[in-house]
Amino acid sequence: MKIFLVFLISFSNIIFASNKFRKYFSFPSFEERIFYLRENYSDKVNIFSIGFSRDGRNIWCVDINYKNTNSKTLLLLSSSHPIEWQGFETPMRLAEKFSKMANDNQLKIRVFVIPVFNPDGFDYIRNVPNIYEIARKNRFYSSSITNTNYKIGVDLNRNFSYKWKKLIKDKTDLFYQGEEPFSEPETKELKNFVDVYKIDLLVSFHSFGKYVQYPYSYTKEAFKDEKLINVATKMAKIIGNNYRAIQDSYLSIKNGTEIDGFMEKEISQH
Ligand SMILES: [Zn+2]
Repeated sequence: MKIFLVFLISFSNIIFASNKFRKYFSFPSFEERIFYLRENYSDKVNIFSIGFSRDGRNIWCVDINYKNTNSKTLLLLSSSHPIEWQGFETPMRLAEKFSKMANDNQLKIRVFVIPVFNPDGFDYIRNVPNIYEIARKNRFYSSSITNTNYKIGVDLNRNFSYKWKKLIKDKTDLFYQGEEPFSEPETKELKNFVDVYKIDLLVSFHSFGKYVQYPYSYTKEAFKDEKLINVATKMAKIIGNNYRAIQDSYLSIKNGTEIDGFMEKEISQH
């Protein structure tokens, strides 16, 4: 039976960014960084776009061990929330490390890394008057609204369909979930991607606290998958530095999150 695990790793020392953090990798410099991997490890590393963001940027995927079509697969996802820049840097460095390992034949599994799931937010946050006001958002355009307010956008980590609820009407709210599940091209493209590629394990990176968070987000009813909880506990122990495993909802109840969507396999046919 296939094991399907979902985690959300949070990093402490959240960078509630000040101006100096605008110096983190820009979207074009991130692109240079991933294409360098393909140039150097072309036999093991492929790069492809899973689709386009609202503004037409590519949502890039680094496909490590791309010829291992029958291997177990791991998906590392990050930068749903543009302000959480540490959450980008860690999977990016893992992509670099795994690429090298694959090149040295030391990596058995196939690893997909989507370092910038929200490329518009990632880029746009550097140029807005107040970065805290779009800290969690993509860019939202609609023919029915005039997008003159830079705060309009969707929190992608509330836009998945499992237990999705229309809790917020204000499109400028930091946690605005969208008009309906998968209303955003980014979440829609991720759904399409996971429908095509078999994913055994998802690790989603955020910057919030010293936690390895496991499902569910929508309910405080205790999660029953002991195997997955044990893996989360082990991960927290390996990370050390007072990290701990915790059910996501114990921090706060949320609807329409990435991990609930993946856990319920609503975005996977496999
Ligand atoms: Zn986050």
